[in-house]
Amino acid sequence: MASAARVDLDGNPIKPITICMIGAGGFIGSHLCGKLMAETPHKVLAVDVYNDKIKHLLEPASLPWSDRIQFRCINIKNDSRLKGLIKMADLTINLAAICTPADYNTRPLDTIYSNFIDALPVVKYCSENNKRIIHFSTCEVYGKTIGCFLPKDHPLRLDPAYFVLKEDDSPCIFGSIEKQRWSYACAKQLIERLIYAEGAENSLEFTIVRPFNWIGPRMDFIPGIDCPSEGVPRVLACFSNNLLRREPLKLVDGGQSQRTFVYIKDAMEAVLLMIENPARANGHIFNVGNPNNEVTVRQLAEMMTQVYSKVSTEPPLEVPTIDISSKEFYGEGYDDSDKRIPDMTIINRQLGWNPKTSLWDLLESTLTYQHRTYAEAIKQAISKPLAS
Ligand code: NAD
Ligand code: UDP
Repeated sequence: MASAARVDLDGNPIKPITICMIGAGGFIGSHLCGKLMAETPHKVLAVDVYNDKIKHLLEPASLPWSDRIQFRCINIKNDSRLKGLIKMADLTINLAAICTPADYNTRPLDTIYSNFIDALPVVKYCSENNKRIIHFSTCEVYGKTIGCFLPKDHPLRLDPAYFVLKEDDSPCIFGSIEKQRWSYACAKQLIERLIYAEGAENSLEFTIVRPFNWIGPRMDFIPGIDCPSEGVPRVLACFSNNLLRREPLKLVDGGQSQRTFVYIKDAMEAVLLMIENPARANGHIFNVGNPNNEVTVRQLAEMMTQVYSKVSTEPPLEVPTIDISSKEFYGEGYDDSDKRIPDMTIINRQLGWNPKTSLWDLLESTLTYQHRTYAEAIKQAISKPLAS
């Protein structure tokens, strides 16, 4: 529970604030609302077009924090109430975005509008009203590593200087324009540059967060259960869906790309430190990830297969994975980030934050949740005859 004696990293008492959280009904928003309600005295104006993932925090009215969270069903594209909410709050956190790779090359206009145009008024209202903003960007702004342009067996590929991603040093390397995958990264990069410029020219107090594959319960959706069956979520939910249905996991272009995965609960510690230590977080861009949890997508599939077998007590499939081309899986214009290792120097120095949870442990708790939440619904969906 919230205690009166909470202090920041410099030993100063933390004053309760009001936070306008846009995109509060999504994966990250739901965990952040939960943490703020359970562990702090802060108030949240939760803005989103959906609230299913935060329903458990909104109802019943007898919940101990019910006077500290309000849901506002607002589409920020076209709602004049947004300005008033930002004015009313001490801090705005912007999470709203289209952020599933299957959309970047198939709905590039929606992706660019969502990640750049729709974020513009949010930044503008914060700047005009001298309000602090924490804006969610992405590790994808780094694009590809320098090392991936070297020949396959070149020794410099093993040199961290060629692949570790540093906020204040690494370039942003995207593919050509017809590789529409990069529409998201490019829109996110431009809004980062705009926020940075608002800071430089108009003294906007900002923090930019670059999440590196945060995963955990409530991420995305399971196709055919809580979204149409043709929906393509991010890899955790794709592989969970395959495991729940006892289908082979699909490895895009052989599953050779590498990712570092961080547990959502570890990441929430980092975001809370940013919220409560503005003097240390303002003006900074932070990588938030777990460099120790690196795997190829193929290794992720193998590990998820083992973990799911443990938590479901079902034997693993005899053929656990199949290869699929990116063109077949995502369509024309897909491209990929080859490798994503975050440099942790800045977040360590400013906030003393380090991730704690191993990949195995975070998959175990997440797949336990997936199994408990979806296994029965999937069984029923599979046993239902197809509508003619
Ligand atoms: P999410 O899709 O679960 O959440 C985004 C939320 O924003 C959704 O609930 C959606 O309804 C809402 N939203 C979108 N457009 C809106 C609009 N016009 N008006 C009101 N609400 C709107 O995604 P998430 O994983 O929680 O990601 C949150 C942020 O973090 C995004 O900006 C994303 O780009 C960034 N990010 C996340 C990850 C990750 O690992 N999860 C990685 C990189 C970047
Ligand atoms: N991927 C895959 N099979 C799937 C879904 C995704 O092989 O069913 C791959 C995808 O091509 C990418 C990685 O998994 O290389 C991570 O994809 P995700 O959608 O989670 O987002 P990203 O990390 O690329 O932003």
